[in-house]
Amino acid sequence: MVEVESGSQGRKLRFVIIGAGMAGVLAGIKCKERGEEFTIYEKGDKVGGTWRENHYPGLACDTPAHTYSYSFAHNPDWSSYFAPGPEIREYFQAMADRYGVSEHIVFNAEIAECRWQEGRWHIRTKDGRSDVADVIVAATGVLHHPKIADIPGLNSFAGPYFHSARWDHSVEIDGKKIGVIGTGSTGVQIVSALCKRAGKLVHFQRSPQWIMPSTNPPYSEAQRAAFRADPTLIDAERNAPEALARRARFTAAIIDKDSPELAEIEAIVAKNLQDSVADPALRAKLTPNYRAACKRMVFSGDYYRSVQESTVYIETGAIDHVEPSGIRMKDGTFHELDVIALATGFHADRFVRPMTVIGENGEDLSDFWSERPRAYFAVTVPHFPNFFLLNGPTGPVGNFSLTDIAERQWEYSDQLLNLVREGKAQAIAPSMEALLDYETRRKAAAMNTVFASGCSSWYLDSEGVPQVWPWSYPYFLDVMANPRFEDYQLIGAADDDGDDEKKSSAAG
Ligand code: NAP
Repeated sequence: MVEVESGSQGRKLRFVIIGAGMAGVLAGIKCKERGEEFTIYEKGDKVGGTWRENHYPGLACDTPAHTYSYSFAHNPDWSSYFAPGPEIREYFQAMADRYGVSEHIVFNAEIAECRWQEGRWHIRTKDGRSDVADVIVAATGVLHHPKIADIPGLNSFAGPYFHSARWDHSVEIDGKKIGVIGTGSTGVQIVSALCKRAGKLVHFQRSPQWIMPSTNPPYSEAQRAAFRADPTLIDAERNAPEALARRARFTAAIIDKDSPELAEIEAIVAKNLQDSVADPALRAKLTPNYRAACKRMVFSGDYYRSVQESTVYIETGAIDHVEPSGIRMKDGTFHELDVIALATGFHADRFVRPMTVIGENGEDLSDFWSERPRAYFAVTVPHFPNFFLLNGPTGPVGNFSLTDIAERQWEYSDQLLNLVREGKAQAIAPSMEALLDYETRRKAAAMNTVFASGCSSWYLDSEGVPQVWPWSYPYFLDVMANPRFEDYQLIGAADDDGDDEKKSSAAG
């Protein structure tokens, strides 16, 4: 176990962290580092979050492995440039063990309610445990409520069917007739992994995807030994000028649909399709009618090869219903199937819900979020004191390293909490005015992103506004490093009259 130095000063805080995925383990490590008391409640039975829940064939992360690791805990042993899912889960497990976080995790403990009462959070789990904390860190993840396609007759299917995040490995795949519904990153990875194993594979494509070509070179033992001997080589890998330039170009492309960078990406993906798929009829099927990166960009080096296997058929018609032995299309075509995999995505607007979170004056987070999930700079919420979201609503998503994002959001939260540690307040929350101003600016900018250029995707809220960070990555770094304290209210700050229930601005 790594001994970490306590960097905390002033009042010690007690944290409850919700979720033991990448962000929750990070929060645990940071609490440990500061010498703060904390407990992590995890509804599952092990560490890993999305990497615990997803274990479908072909699962990998399309963010380079060295970039997806914590900045302070390099891993010289990644097997390849993009790591397979199970390796990533093991990495976060290893980090929880190495930094002494594991013993603070309570597994199989789903939080039912968090209630702000008398200046502290009162927590209750579904199985009746309770806890009290000064601070809540909600590290519940974004994509963790499977969206089961509402297809008539699905329940009547005689064979096994399951969502991609609930893969049943006891089900025989080899030589079987498999139907995969959905062409997001998940569906593309599953089809690429199963095309040679299935006897027949039908990929049900409601919308085709633009595919960014990518390769995944393995790291040789010699390279891994070099990383072990000299960790600065890993820093060099993380900060390679071409990787940074690629990220800058990608960000420029997504935040401005009229940018030359987006035109460049469009040319790359169009050429990839043209060069990779020989048959013009198949190429036509695979050609999207929306702009590249409008839906979350899919990276794959083998999908186009996979769909040209003789076992694979791309079905572009509309599904009518499921029958006991297969799927009937609206034009009457029938696909006989043994297994159906639903790669139909997630309810991306849930975040901490369905948990009940009650803030100041009985404010219910689910009411506060009834239109859309809202958080000031994606981290804090008015009326919910000392409540911090990692990878919360409107943060940067989509082909970025969420690990890096969570680290920056932690640093932001930590700076705000220093006001509490220093005794300037009992708790802190952003003002409603600050959130409304942020949302007005964010929504206007979001409508200029490529995500609003005319396609459906899980980025869009119920009004069609992308629920995303619409600005540049350097701007994100800047706002996370420099919180606007004047936009926060200090709750329980002692005023000149000694009225410690008073709220004042952190600027005052
Ligand atoms: P997704 O991107 O939301 O894709 C869902 C797919 O299901 C879409 O193709 C959608 O079609 C289709 N679909 C939904 N309901 C349907 C229905 N009733 N009939 C037919 N098709 C239906 O979900 P995902 O692929 O699971 O990916 C979600 C996110 O997870 C990704 O965007 C990414 O952020 C993350 N992810 C990352 C990686 C990685 O490598 N890092 C891997 C997997 C997932 P339409 O497009 O027509 O709506």
